[in-house]
Amino acid sequence: MRAPGRVNLIGDHTDYNDGLVLPAAIDLDTWIGLRRRRDGLVRIASLQAGGETGSFWTDEVEPPDPALPSPARGWVDYVAGVAWSLREAGLPVHGFDGIVDSTIPPGAGLSSSAALELAAALALLGPAPITESSGVLAALAQRAERDYVGVNCGIVDQFAAAECRAGRALLLDCRSLESRHVPLPAGVRVVVCDTGSPREPRTSAYDERRAECGRAVALLAEQVPSISSLRDVDRATLRRHRHLLPDAVARRAEHVVGENDRVVAVADAMAAGDLPRLGQLFAASHESLRSNYEVSCPALDAMVAVAVAVPGVVAARMTGVEFGGCTVNLVREGAVEALARAVADEYPRLTGLVPRVYAVATADGAGNV
Ligand code: ADP
Ligand code: MG
Repeated sequence: MRAPGRVNLIGDHTDYNDGLVLPAAIDLDTWIGLRRRRDGLVRIASLQAGGETGSFWTDEVEPPDPALPSPARGWVDYVAGVAWSLREAGLPVHGFDGIVDSTIPPGAGLSSSAALELAAALALLGPAPITESSGVLAALAQRAERDYVGVNCGIVDQFAAAECRAGRALLLDCRSLESRHVPLPAGVRVVVCDTGSPREPRTSAYDERRAECGRAVALLAEQVPSISSLRDVDRATLRRHRHLLPDAVARRAEHVVGENDRVVAVADAMAAGDLPRLGQLFAASHESLRSNYEVSCPALDAMVAVAVAVPGVVAARMTGVEFGGCTVNLVREGAVEALARAVADEYPRLTGLVPRVYAVATADGAGNV
């Protein structure tokens, strides 16, 4: 069982606003090697957890009682949570003895958690061919992470890990869950640069931004009652009513509205092979995340500045949640080495941090191997 990590090419902070995203699965992945059991016991170890073993009976797993203080959750809960959500959905769940191994750096924003969940779903569903759609599997994996592990996550990571295809990005509408594959331009590689500055997901800033988006919707809906999320707002509407919003709230809305447009524009530019346009759109996204959404940081800004100065780097921007983590770059095939060298030489001098560069290939979504 194998499931990939993912990188979001563009569309940041649009998911929880019913908007558009454009992730691609990458060839860093998580594997579960297993021996099937006749009973419903799961015994599982992970090489990333120092070989730590956990076990549970698939018919006994239950999520924590929301009325009680939330218990500490460990990595085995991601697997047990998937067993729970599959069972709740009435799907057959089988026991196994398994070992997890992964090349996805955990917590770097490349979605090791969704990869683990998808690989676990395939392992638990057992030997029969899987008939559930990737959308259904993604929703069940998300439910496991949200309601069992207790992480308030969207569905994008799971959807990407399930549905993406090699050589393509996935344009996903987070409102309708409609998706379409978009080919990457020929001769262009995806390079992920980790700033080495720890990302702090789900910090107060993330909750604050979500609340500010909600505030924008509430104020705009007083003027235009059909608005129920920022997805319903276009640039002209926002311009017309901008003066009614507090400045920070208006800038958050401006980012989300502009970012949805940029996702569509990037998909079009990729299909047309318009590399200069991709550069402009990535730059505009980064600038909007920096100045409108205020979720960049000096390390991310430095990483982007180093990258765009390298000839052959087509596009660079921060990606992920906030204040650290990775940038995503589109790079001409022949320029990947030069980018890696520039990052190794210049970035530590600018920031005092130790970067990592992942020249990835796009990959297929989760599957049995
Ligand atoms: P990411 O951005 O990588 O998804 P998360 O914080 O959402 O970061 O998920 C990371 C968590 O997922 C880890 O702390 C661990 O509990 C679990 N996890 C992911 N991959 C593995 C693995 N290969 N082995 C054990 N646990 C894993
Ligand atoms: Mg995750």
